Order: sequence, then C-alpha cells, then structure tokens
Amino acid sequence: MNYQETAKDLAQVSISCESCGNSFSYKHTLIGRGSHPDKFKAEMAALNALSTQIDRVKAGDYGLITEYKPCPQCSYVQSWMILAGRKRRGRNWGLALGAFSFLASIVAGLIIQSKLNIASMMPFIMCGVPVVVFFVVRALVMLLYQPNKGHEAPQQVKPPSITFIAPAH
Ligand SMILES: [Zn+2]
Repeated sequence: MNYQETAKDLAQVSISCESCGNSFSYKHTLIGRGSHPDKFKAEMAALNALSTQIDRVKAGDYGLITEYKPCPQCSYVQSWMILAGRKRRGRNWGLALGAFSFLASIVAGLIIQSKLNIASMMPFIMCGVPVVVFFVVRALVMLLYQPNKGHEAPQQVKPPSITFIAPAH
C-alpha cells in the first residue's frame, strides 16, 4: 500500500500583452505527486516532482503554466501561450501514436502467428481506422489553431514574468 502525497505551489503569471500592452495576470497551481510505501519518502518524491516542474517553468517551458488566457482588453492570445500549447499537444499526440503503433504491431504479430485470414482481421481494422482518423484530425485542428485572426502580428514576443507565491501543502 503506497502513500499518495502531493506538493503544491501557486505561480502568479504576469503578462504584458504583446498586442496592446495591457498588463494582466492569472494564478496557476503546480502540483507534484509522489507515491511510496513510506509516507516521508512519498512526501519527498512529491516535493521533488514539484521542484522539477518549477525549474522547467523557470527555464521557459511554459506548457506547465499555460492556459489560453486571452488578453482581457483586446482578446489577443500571447504567442508563447500558443507555442507552449502546440508543443504540449504535439508531445501528447506523439505518445498516442507511439502507443497505437505498439498495439498495432502486437496485433499484427498475433495475426501472422495464428495465420488468420483477412475476414477475421476485420474487427481490428474496423476499430483501428477510426482511431487513426480521430488522432490525425485532432492533431490538425490543434496545429492549425489560430486564435489571433484579425489581430496584427505582435511587435515582439514578451515572455511572462512568473512569481512562485508559496509552497502550499
Ligand atoms: Zn491586449
């Protein structure tokens, strides 16, 4: 039986809009999780996971703190939010595709071993094709996501300024 522990920190994300210069901010909670039979070690693991996330955010990996927050004044979505969101979705999509090819190769192996004919493969094909189509369409929608239509291109990329408020347990 493992203890499931969490460690949290609140990040205050301050933004100066790339399009209109308006300043606004939002808060985002980072959560580290740890699991271990020993309660103390589970807590340590959670704290470690949290500090890894904080380091990543400080190094510019904004995917961890990004929600598409349009500017309240001009509704422009900051360039780094879109970039971070695409990166994260690209990563998820890559994982899904990897899992799918892994499963497909197992199924193919089983089919070859048991010398099944094409008719008995139909259920796999019927399941597999919609799954692939779903992921491809989803990826295209995500990659082509353009929330800033009608806005002029920003003069410059302005990364957010992030303050970590307090480690809250
Ligand atoms: Zn704005």
